[in-house]
Amino acid sequence: MDLKFDREHIWHPYTSMNNPLKVYPVKSADGVRIKLDDGRELIDGMSSWWATVHGYNHPKLNEAVNNQLNDMSHIMFGGFTHKPAIDLAKKLIDITPSDLQKIFYCDSGSVAVEVAMKMALQYCFSIGETKRKKFVTVRSGYHGDTFHAMSVCDPVTGMHEIFTGILPEYIFVDAPQIAYSEQWDYADFKQMFETIKANKDEIAAVIIEPIVQGAGGMRFYHPNYLKELRKTCDEFGIILILDEIATGFGRTGEFFACMHANVQPDIMCIGKALTGGYMSFAACLANEKISQGISDGKPGNFMHGPTFMGNPLACSVANASLDLLMSYDWRKSVKNIESIMTQELISAKEFENVDSVRILGAIGVIQMKSEVDMAKIQNDFVEHGIWVRPFGKLVYIMPAFIINDADLRELCRSLLTVVQMN
Ligand code: PMP
Repeated sequence: MDLKFDREHIWHPYTSMNNPLKVYPVKSADGVRIKLDDGRELIDGMSSWWATVHGYNHPKLNEAVNNQLNDMSHIMFGGFTHKPAIDLAKKLIDITPSDLQKIFYCDSGSVAVEVAMKMALQYCFSIGETKRKKFVTVRSGYHGDTFHAMSVCDPVTGMHEIFTGILPEYIFVDAPQIAYSEQWDYADFKQMFETIKANKDEIAAVIIEPIVQGAGGMRFYHPNYLKELRKTCDEFGIILILDEIATGFGRTGEFFACMHANVQPDIMCIGKALTGGYMSFAACLANEKISQGISDGKPGNFMHGPTFMGNPLACSVANASLDLLMSYDWRKSVKNIESIMTQELISAKEFENVDSVRILGAIGVIQMKSEVDMAKIQNDFVEHGIWVRPFGKLVYIMPAFIINDADLRELCRSLLTVVQMN
């Protein structure tokens, strides 16, 4: 592989062109094994950033793509519709919170967040609440890298200072502090309540990742926070947007993380594991209130329509991925991953360089006391036969649901060995 060319010409995620981190040439991937060009095999701990819940190269998903290829790989969604899009919408309406009945397909998680925010604003304008232009969110959140999505990411890790004056300025509240299984105390929600109350006439929507804050800190917060948020949004007529892009499709132990709190959003974003991680695809789901509010108002149309909206290949593989998820007891698999990760990772709490360890569903997080040396730790992981990609102080894994016990234990043990060395 021409790594020199790659190094000189291809931008990789979150890097500089001057001194980028090393990239490893990968030849293929199958199940939870990533095969490098030099013949080495790595056990995958990342599911390609939450996406490949069924592992790589799955025969059923391959078959779905291949079958669809023979009919059409793409067709514009303006003026056309097709069975894969309709079948998928039926399935999504079935499995997502029952209020969500209207689906907007789009091409990536960040775009789904843009669509959700645009829907919220357009709804407010359509019903005549034209003063409602602000969004409220919590610190340590992450919603994507496009501009509106970035404006609701944590202001520090989202690098707001670079784009000051360009990024819209929204309202931030401290991140929830009470962890998922700690004792609930309403005091944790008080700042959010007071902030919403103080700005009640100017807020269009609150946007938040339910239960798990992902790339902004890998934090698991208490379901009652979300319940209180729903109540407060209802009290003040504010839309609740839940970003389930990382948490959706079983990752946290419930089909969608909002189900830990039994909360229905007005708008919900999904992506990543929607296609089993096969390709970029996402959706934004809305309830009747939002869709009617927009459609009854002026201009009535929702003004968004990406070129690859409803892409048939993506819809087909998403249909196959959902069928696969429904075909076995994924809850049992996620519980099993959670219990093995708990057994294997908890001892890291005693390491002197580790601050804390937390596990929820198929997500395991080791928070270090100081930032890791990415170049070194990445190399150590590869040398130990596993693929883990930390950021900052956070070393975390989210394996595919199909990982077997032996591979998972090996992944966890090698992870601990490397963590201890760093
Ligand atoms: N929201 C959340 C919660 C995410 O984790 C991500 C991706 N890491 C996004 C939005 C953005 O998705 P994408 O990278 O597909 O644009």
